[in-house]
Amino acid sequence: MFADKLSTRTHFVGTSEIREVLKVTEKPEVISFAGGLPAPELFPVEDIKVACDAILTESGVEALQYSTTEGYTPLRQAIVTRLKKMGIDTTVDHLLMISGSQQGLDLTGKLLLNEQDTVICESPTYLAAINAFKVYNASFVEVETDEDGMNMEKLEKALQTNPQAKFIYTIPDFQNPTGRTLSLSRRKKMVALANQYNVLIVEDNPYGAIRFAGEPLPPIKHFDTEERVIYLSTFSKIFSPGLRLGWICAHEDFIKQYVAFKQAADLHTDSFAQRITAKYIELFDLDAHIEKIKAVYHHRRQTMIDCIDRFFPKQVTHSSPEGGLFIWVELPESVNSREVFEVCIQNDVAFVPGQAFFPNLKKENTFRLNYSNMPDRKIIEGMRRLGQVLHSFLNS
Ligand code: PMP
Repeated sequence: MFADKLSTRTHFVGTSEIREVLKVTEKPEVISFAGGLPAPELFPVEDIKVACDAILTESGVEALQYSTTEGYTPLRQAIVTRLKKMGIDTTVDHLLMISGSQQGLDLTGKLLLNEQDTVICESPTYLAAINAFKVYNASFVEVETDEDGMNMEKLEKALQTNPQAKFIYTIPDFQNPTGRTLSLSRRKKMVALANQYNVLIVEDNPYGAIRFAGEPLPPIKHFDTEERVIYLSTFSKIFSPGLRLGWICAHEDFIKQYVAFKQAADLHTDSFAQRITAKYIELFDLDAHIEKIKAVYHHRRQTMIDCIDRFFPKQVTHSSPEGGLFIWVELPESVNSREVFEVCIQNDVAFVPGQAFFPNLKKENTFRLNYSNMPDRKIIEGMRRLGQVLHSFLNS
């Protein structure tokens, strides 16, 4: 209806095939490894109640009123302190609170992309970032990744053949969908290449704080000598995604323009949510809470990997994440994970077929598994079913 009234943008991002596919995973009988949801039993509901009550008692009127676009200063200050510990030395003037880091992706598209501009990204990459940039009619150059993240020789080639590329979009820590992490030397190299080829970096880092094994690595922004890294992060995975709180840390000139676009989009990020989160950080120990999340995810990751070893055919390979929420699985090239998915759904188990995570290339033989959202017994049962289906496809 009224198709002639719709903007041309509606041609770039329509109803996603994958979203349709994933609807079937929502049936209660399905054991779904498809989503990317945090473990609900870890939400600090009682502590948030206390924070909420304190806010309503101490500053209820301010919490319920319109507020500034940049965000609630005590919360931005708390984020500055946390960023400093991670190796990002910044100030509140370089920070904008946003409605989840997803909004940061949309605003970044608005800020940087003209029609047909090129985004260089990991192959595969985050599905909803592809869609956020597609709204602005971006085109994508995918750079191959391995266990250490984006391949730097391939990145340099991509920069040479696409000198007009606007930015490199990267998820350096426990990437969505692969769970892989960009190595230290590649982080430094990426910044050096960005400087050399005069391209920006958009570092999307929702998972960095959820490292449960191996050595912590500084964010790419730590190595940023020319303020060309736009850093996005979020409270979604360390606190609560429902509060919709993320932030952008970037050069002040970028922040000013982001503020203008943010005003046009939604005036400001939820004041109540910002104050609740700041109060929680003041009254409780967010780091101790993150430690609890890490312990649970570490355990679930191990359960899932043990199940892969136990139930999957030996030809199947997988990533071994040291943090985050996802494992990436590669099947022999002859196997199409969409076909595997169809059979899995008949057996009430689900994952996300990998094709959707490639903006141009379509690697049909891949899929993503999530381990954060489910107790052991369900992981084991779901993986057993999935293993059976894989054996039937591989005749093993
Ligand atoms: N970036 C990446 C890589 C993600 O995986 C997600 C959420 N799954 C987001 C951004 C958006 O997160 P939020 O808007 O909840 O902060």
